[in-house]
Order: sequence, then C-alpha cells, then structure tokens
Amino acid sequence: MWIKGARILDPENGIDTMGDIHVSHGRIAGIYPGGSPDTDAESIDAQGKWVLPGLIDMHVHLRDPGFEYKEDIASGSLAAAAGGVTTMVCMANTDPVNDNPSVTKYIIDRAKSVALVRIMPVGAVSKALMGQELSEMGLMKEAGIVAVSDDGNPVEDASLMRSALFYASTFGLPLLSHCQDRPLSVSGVMNEGALSSGLGLSGIPGVSEEIMVSRDLLLSRDTRVPIHLTHLSTKTSLELVSRAKEQGIPVTCDVTPHHLLLTEEGVKTYDTNMKMYPPLRTEEDRKALVEGLLHGIIDCVATDHAPHARDEKNLDFDLAPFGVIGLQTLLPALLKIHFENDKGLLGVLGAVTCNPARILGIDGGNLTPGSRADITIIDPQRQWVFTEECIRSKSKNSPFLGQRFTGMVIQTIVEGQTVFRES
Ligand SMILES: [Zn+2]
Ligand SMILES: [Zn+2]
Repeated sequence: MWIKGARILDPENGIDTMGDIHVSHGRIAGIYPGGSPDTDAESIDAQGKWVLPGLIDMHVHLRDPGFEYKEDIASGSLAAAAGGVTTMVCMANTDPVNDNPSVTKYIIDRAKSVALVRIMPVGAVSKALMGQELSEMGLMKEAGIVAVSDDGNPVEDASLMRSALFYASTFGLPLLSHCQDRPLSVSGVMNEGALSSGLGLSGIPGVSEEIMVSRDLLLSRDTRVPIHLTHLSTKTSLELVSRAKEQGIPVTCDVTPHHLLLTEEGVKTYDTNMKMYPPLRTEEDRKALVEGLLHGIIDCVATDHAPHARDEKNLDFDLAPFGVIGLQTLLPALLKIHFENDKGLLGVLGAVTCNPARILGIDGGNLTPGSRADITIIDPQRQWVFTEECIRSKSKNSPFLGQRFTGMVIQTIVEGQTVFRES
C-alpha cells in the first residue's frame, strides 16, 4: 500500500516533508520525499492531507472490567480509532482493580479479540488502590502492563510512594502519579477562587496539586528514579517541574486537552461536562500550560478519557462524578493550539507520538522504516463542529460539545490495516 502526495510529519525523526509512504506487511517500508516511482499497487491519494504516526494516548479509562455501561474495550477502541489514536494506555481503576496478573491478562485477551487499536494496561501501584500495600508489579509486568499508577487516587503515604518508585524501577516500569493532596481537595468540585465563591460551589485549590508535585519531585530526586506526573493543571506546578528539570531531576509530565483549551469559566453554567479532576483552572494557568507545551516543559498531552453515563452526569454539579471523555477531540485540540500559536507543529505532535513512546518504553510513535505501520491521516483544512452524533464512545460527557474545530482525522491505520475511515 502506498500513501501518496501527503505532507509527512514525523516528530521523532524531525521529518516535515511532502512525499509518499510505502507500507508493506504491516510495517513502514519506506518514505520517499518528493514522490516515488509509479506503481500499480493499492494507493491512497493523500494530496492536501497530513500523515502522522498513529497517536499514543497515555492516560485513558476504559471502564472494562466492571463499568461496561460507561465504556468497554470495544467501544473505547472505536472512539480511539475515530480520533486517530492507535495506542491507548488504560488505567487500573476498574472493578476488579488491575492490581494482579489475572486482570491484566483479561484486558490483554479482550483487547486482542475486540479492539481495533493497541491497548496497553497500567497496573495499580497499591493493592485495590488503597495506598497501603504494593501490588504484584513483577507478575503484572510479565502479563503485559507498561506502567504503574493508582490514578483516580493519589498515593498519599510518602513512604509507600518511595518504595513504589524503587520497586517499579526494578521492573523497568514507569510510575504515573496523580498529584492530589486529599485533605486540601476532598470537598471541592471546581477550582477554588472568586468564581467558586460566586457560584456557591466548594473549591479545589491549586496548592492541593502543587504540594504533591513538590513531594514527588523530591522523592524522584532522592531515589533517582524517574517519575511521570499526569494531568498537571496549574502554572505553579509547571514552574516546579521546569525548575526540577533544570536541576536534572528525571521528571516528565503531561496535560490534558481540556486544561489547554478551557478554563473555570466553563463551570458558570453548572455544566457537569466541565467537572473533572483536576478542575479547569484560570486563564493564567491555561496560558502557562500552552506555553509549557510549546517550550517542551510539558512532554505529553493525554486525554484522561473518563466516560460516565448520561444519568450519572445529569445530577447537580456537586453530586455528578468527575471526568470527561476525550479520545476524539485530542488531535483537533492540538491542531487548534498549533494554528492559534502558529508554531511548533512537530513539537506539538511529539507530545502524542514519540514522547509518550519514549517515557513508556514502548515501540510506536514514529514513521521510521521497519516500524509498525500505525498511521493517522488528517485533513488539516476541514472545518467541523463536534456534536454528540460524532461520538463513538458509549458515553457522551465531552466538554467540547458544540466546539468548532479545524482539522479532522479522516483515516486511521493500525499495522497496515485501515481501522477507521471518515464517511
Ligand atoms: Zn487522575
Ligand atoms: Zn485519570
């Protein structure tokens, strides 16, 4: 198969060129800048299109096993394929929790039989996510996990976190930390500030995240074990990470598309699709996150895709669950940041391709000849509005409903096979 006449974008190899790509036996066979010899083989006319490595979303909740009415491995993979995401890393807070190899094996076997894209499970740091006893990381690694995280919960006990860093590193497993000081945030439902007071909603102060960011940075410095901080939301968190990187602390981090594009103002209408943890912050925070992404302080963008059923979100703001879906709006959101800032296309795309691959130690995220042919083709000019009808996920709780985007995924290829084509 040939993909012809595209703008080829490969952040890992620093490639931004017009040309053709040859795919053979599920692998990238070659890239031909300026075009290839004529061939009778099957070809995709990609004039005017952009071709990139399939996206890697390193923070997804697939709700399977246990909450399949919200999402399951099959529906989550449909949404991923439609979003140009060819690898998903799914968190451990299922029911049962993925804290032992039998749950890991269930996810991997289920993905093999029903998923359109590659699914890589994350194992729990602690048994049942309770933060008291370390999980069976080694056995789960053998069964196929690629990282550990108690996401959904913070690891509150610093001593356990320190042991977890040592233990995870012996198996080469990156640790993904959800930074939240619980006593400071436990009753909150949105960002703490003048707006939360005005709306009569209890707040979650930025410092509840920043305290845990500081602790994790100190633990990483102390143990010399890398740590990855997920879904950072405040300017101060980024300043802490930036300083730590300068000091040589092995820290990496990600942010979500909703924290890059939206602010607490979205909560003014009490729309529960604007409720997630961490909460949407201020415009000053949002701008700092965008700058952090453009300047490489933020390594990755990940969705924290968190499906919830309509009747669960149809509650008062105080009572509705935290979390929003994001797989199908990841790429359009990144393109919006690129177009608005008119720079850094390869850097921005690196945040969803080669950077997560490097941090997780997995293959993929590039178009290097010989590597897996996971490819996303987009029409960069297509203007469209994201509506419920677009959503392939079982749940519809997106904060981007009604949002106008420029740039649309039109075809997604996994190991040389088309798994999504825009109709
Ligand atoms: Zn989290
Ligand atoms: Zn999460």
